[in-house]
Amino acid sequence: MAPVKLGLNAAVIGTSSGIDYRLAREATLQAWRAGELSREQICDAQRELQRNAEFCGSETSRQCPVCEETDLVEVIYVFGPRLPKHGRCVTSDKEMARLAARKSSSQGYVVEVCTDCRWNYLTQSRAIGG
Ligand SMILES: [Zn+2]
Repeated sequence: MAPVKLGLNAAVIGTSSGIDYRLAREATLQAWRAGELSREQICDAQRELQRNAEFCGSETSRQCPVCEETDLVEVIYVFGPRLPKHGRCVTSDKEMARLAARKSSSQGYVVEVCTDCRWNYLTQSRAIGG
């Protein structure tokens, strides 16, 4: 399993094991390689996601599966009570630890983004805190 940065894994020890979307991701990539999906259909990162990837994403050493030119960036979003409706983009271990310590449970989502070709995919979701 690829390491999740920003302490997301550490933060959720003792809570649900989360959902891994790798199989769906592979199916999407396979459909693209088979010509069933166009590059525009799978490389559709919206402007805000692109911006979050640039300013609050963490770099990975995994190459983009589509353009094979750029390393992927991971953006972690957390949704929950008393957080912005569009989610909070978590940028530090400290912030993640604070969310994990709250009584109310939040949901964390890890999205991988290529800032070059705009490939993006939700790779994991997990409960945090609560
Ligand atoms: Zn790419």
